[in-house]
Amino acid sequence: MRVAVPREMAAGERRVALVPETVSKLSGSGFEIRVEHAAGEAAGFLDADYAEAGAELAAPSALLADAGAVVRVAKPGADEVSSLAPDTVLIGFLEPLTDADGIARLREQGVVAFAMESIPRITRAQSMDALSSQATVAGYKAVLLAADRVPKLFPMLMTAAGTIAPVRALVIGAGVAGLQAIATARRLGAVVSAFDVRPAVKEQVESLGAAFLELGVRTEETEGGYARELSPDEQAQQQAALEERIPDFDVVITTAAVPGRPAPKLIPASAVARMRPGSVIVDIAAETGGNCELTVPGEVVEHAGVGIVGTTNLPSLMAFHASQLYSRNVAALLQHLAPDGELTLDWEDEITAGACVTRPEATA
Ligand code: NAD
Repeated sequence: MRVAVPREMAAGERRVALVPETVSKLSGSGFEIRVEHAAGEAAGFLDADYAEAGAELAAPSALLADAGAVVRVAKPGADEVSSLAPDTVLIGFLEPLTDADGIARLREQGVVAFAMESIPRITRAQSMDALSSQATVAGYKAVLLAADRVPKLFPMLMTAAGTIAPVRALVIGAGVAGLQAIATARRLGAVVSAFDVRPAVKEQVESLGAAFLELGVRTEETEGGYARELSPDEQAQQQAALEERIPDFDVVITTAAVPGRPAPKLIPASAVARMRPGSVIVDIAAETGGNCELTVPGEVVEHAGVGIVGTTNLPSLMAFHASQLYSRNVAALLQHLAPDGELTLDWEDEITAGACVTRPEATA
């Protein structure tokens, strides 16, 4: 099977879908990899590295010829979709829950599309779980952005000039990104508290050395381990409880999300007004609207001295390792769909059927 790797075109996207390490593994197991010139450059992978790993380098015009599969990070633009041959396998973050038009375009084109977001979160599919790999990177980077901005040292320091108290950090949403944010903030020396509406994560939070903040709001987990969306009453209760507690913290990292829904608004403007000047909120949920009422997605804003970082696509800011992890996720999915490079789509299989978001009738 020939696999094409285009250069990502989305604004600010520095990642690449396959890195040389994975190209070399796939080339050794029945795949022919064709990579667009400079596809890996922004992530730190050179054309020469790809060539050495066994890839063929191609101009955009020659990239898709005879491609059985196209692997990318972000969803393709309309132009690229119209140049995909029917029955081409497409793999990427295709936004199946929020981009109905994009998915309809793929369906009309007859593409067999697999969304990384739709891979079932079952043990067998862990190596393909790109939501987790990229959330890990985002959680780490969010803490670094906070540390860069807050006018305090993270660790407690005992110096000749006396002792400095550590930063107090709050992580809201203790899923994959949140747990990595807790671990990173702890490593930098902060005293960390965390909150999630899923009570099951209390133990995980505590095992990382953080305190679980009781806000009196809980939900049961849905299938797959996700949170249920709060009712308006519960949300108001959470906002009020947070407003009470938030002035205690110098750094707040928010990661709360409910799949396919806008990010829940957890921090109202009135809570930001109670924070001390110099405090920082890094809103990882900015992509889907933000957890803080004052977040401006894609921007860093300040309200009465409180910085609110709404920078989107944090994994792209750590493009080398984010790409390396993503590439392994993509390779694992490719090998699942095409063992030894031969496409064998088993629609009875939970991973294949679960991740597929469009397919022509004939393959159904
Ligand atoms: P996510 O990005 O959808 O959400 C992030 C966190 O926000 C979740 O922990 C969620 O509970 C929390 N949240 C939602 N609403 C909130 C609110 N109002 N206030 C505070 N927190 C709120 O989730 P995720 O990080 O992608 O994963 C969530 C869970 O999925 C994991 O912790 C795990 O249990 C499960 N999971 C399972 C596997 C697997 O292979 N079995 C892999 C990855 C994740």
